Amino acid sequence: SVVNRPPEKDCTDITPPYTKLTQNLAFVQQKILKDKPLSLAEKILYSHLYDPREYDGGIVRGETYLKLKPDRVAMQDASAQMAILQFMLAGMPTTAVPASIHCDHLIEAFQGANKDVKAAEISNKEIFDFLQSAAEKYGIAFWKPGSGIIHQIVLENYAAPGGLMLGTDSHTPNAGGLGMVAIGVGGADAVDAMADIPWEIKAPKIIGIKLNGSLSKWSSPKDVILNLAGKLTVRGGTGHVLEYFGPGVDTLSCTGMATISNMGAEVGATTTVFPFSNSMYSYLTETRRHTVAEEALKNASYLKADSNVHYDQYIELNLSEIEPHINGPFTPDLSTPISKFAEVVAKNGWKDEVKAGLIGSCTNSSYQDMSRVVSLASQALDKGIQPKGKFFITPGSEQIRATMERDGQTEILEQVGGKILANACGPCIGQWKRTDIKENEENAILTSFNRNFRNRNDNNPNTMNFLASPEIVTTMIFAGKLSFNPMTDALIDKDGEPFKFQSPHGDELPHQGFADGNEDLEPIITVGNSSTKITIPENSSRLQKLEPFSPWHGNEFKELKVLVKVKGKCTTDHISAAGPWLKYKGHLENISNNTLIGALNADNEKINVVKNDLTGKDGNIPEVARYYKENNVPWIIVADHNYGEGSAREHAALQVRYLGCPLIISKSFARIHETNLKKQGVLPLVFKDEKDYELFSGGDIIETVGVVGLEPGKDVIIRVKKHETDKEFEVVTKHTMSKDQIEWFKMGSALNLIANQRF
Ligand code: SF4
Repeated sequence: SVVNRPPEKDCTDITPPYTKLTQNLAFVQQKILKDKPLSLAEKILYSHLYDPREYDGGIVRGETYLKLKPDRVAMQDASAQMAILQFMLAGMPTTAVPASIHCDHLIEAFQGANKDVKAAEISNKEIFDFLQSAAEKYGIAFWKPGSGIIHQIVLENYAAPGGLMLGTDSHTPNAGGLGMVAIGVGGADAVDAMADIPWEIKAPKIIGIKLNGSLSKWSSPKDVILNLAGKLTVRGGTGHVLEYFGPGVDTLSCTGMATISNMGAEVGATTTVFPFSNSMYSYLTETRRHTVAEEALKNASYLKADSNVHYDQYIELNLSEIEPHINGPFTPDLSTPISKFAEVVAKNGWKDEVKAGLIGSCTNSSYQDMSRVVSLASQALDKGIQPKGKFFITPGSEQIRATMERDGQTEILEQVGGKILANACGPCIGQWKRTDIKENEENAILTSFNRNFRNRNDNNPNTMNFLASPEIVTTMIFAGKLSFNPMTDALIDKDGEPFKFQSPHGDELPHQGFADGNEDLEPIITVGNSSTKITIPENSSRLQKLEPFSPWHGNEFKELKVLVKVKGKCTTDHISAAGPWLKYKGHLENISNNTLIGALNADNEKINVVKNDLTGKDGNIPEVARYYKENNVPWIIVADHNYGEGSAREHAALQVRYLGCPLIISKSFARIHETNLKKQGVLPLVFKDEKDYELFSGGDIIETVGVVGLEPGKDVIIRVKKHETDKEFEVVTKHTMSKDQIEWFKMGSALNLIANQRF
């Protein structure tokens, strides 16, 4: 059934409190920073300080911890479970800021949109009931399964220029396309905001990216970030905000800027932000938030960087020179311009075949994306050319799906053989019951998604997953060849004649406005009801009430055993896999059985195989960790660079803590994961000299010197006893714990501290 929505949404909770924010900012800028020019990200962050007067010593990027008051929180169904389980321990009647839950991750793509949503509602009933009951109790907006993907729904409904939002998902920065500082966090951080506790982050450094020119015909906003990912690499944005500016910004659509912002997560950036622009104004108006658009316009000087601001790094990109890119496989920063890709395919000896093309997701399912794709699909339809593999389309929201249907886009995509999946994450998060290949068959797919770690899409380690714009994915699936370049190469049409695609074109926004969609998928909005009972079934294998972690024992750590020395890339997918494990997100004990199953052991070059030092036998990592826990042997992980990159998945921290790991030593940590570890009471230490990593191996025994009396900036010494030779030595490690974070560690977790303060 279809409803006529009122022309304007209620913008009360959506419009940022501009008067208060600009007053705060004026205080910080004049009194504390002595009129120093500020970047846009700084303006938004500093205007959200809990108490600006606390900073009379100044604010230094990369050094000062900021205590912030976010405007809003968004949570997706997989991470919301743990966020809510933790929030329950905080003892609040309702959330202190507006919040929303989005049921998007737990829907498996298999038989088509409607059937898949229905199947998910049955198989995940206890989870959805749990989340819905918690939403009702605490006054959280509840977006049902099939309503859309968190970041698209946020862009359409909640994002606002100059606002500050936390989201329990690493692609939360998507809202930067609407000028919001939106940061991906773990559930424990979301609990801070929901419990009205200052949320802490180190003042980020800023990478200024000046955009000149305008995109050429075949290039799209996706290519800007695919190109930049190649330049910055997966670690290049760590500790930084990516802040775009320059004349090129005004040539981009709001949704295009959201795509670029979304994938800032792939270079490890804290977030991405764009200055307020005409396209943001139009998008806000078209999505029935004209009030927000007008208020933003009145505050336009707040919503852009000051002139003469200093950036920590400066990059200039000429949009006119950016050609389409293809990134991958297995890492989003392996970036190749399409003109060189055929050479790369040949050089690597990859089979020249594309098995599936997948477009949409939270990254690329805007009206503009879809209309440009349809302009290509129509050409193929006219020429009788069919996709050579599976062609799937994931609309980001019910609004997008309904608009595509009304405007005839769906019909064309289906006529060429495309299949519209549910408005949900589906194959982007491994929720893809794939039937077109044999188990573990080597094959290549192209997606317009944002992330392409091994196993990510179909749980097949031999699927090479490449990222590209929706336009390039679409042409490549019609070609069926990895080496195809639609800008130069021809296909053969139904008459045996050569056919070359004309460059894509499409509308930024729908001429008739967005369609309303199915009213059953409207969010359930409540103000909170203290009498609502949160449903957690007895003996559930999927939901388990949390028990607080024990506080630190007050002494140096002794007799800690190195469980595994991890080699190379170790993302949160490696530490806490998704796919089939998503169903245990609310059950810490059960999901802990996937701990580090993707990690490569540096000692034996095997994935998920370590020696159990107590039995002398090899076992898988979670099994050996559990064995150590049961035998009261605390253990640690030694890790390579950027440990915990990728998603905001706090399970990656919770699980190791639950299984008995009090500290991790790495060459470096990814930002969100490092914070998640701190929040759960795990001490993240970094080698002062990264060469010391080489000195460790599994089974080594370590003890600490410096945990007693731990202070910000003070080193911790690690004494190591080699397990085979008994040889002893010391290495120096550093940490980034602030004073408050040290209290989390001492209390056993940040949540223990909150609960302690509240009761
Ligand atoms: Fe969902 Fe993929 Fe977007 Fe994450 S990146 S929110 S899994 S669509």
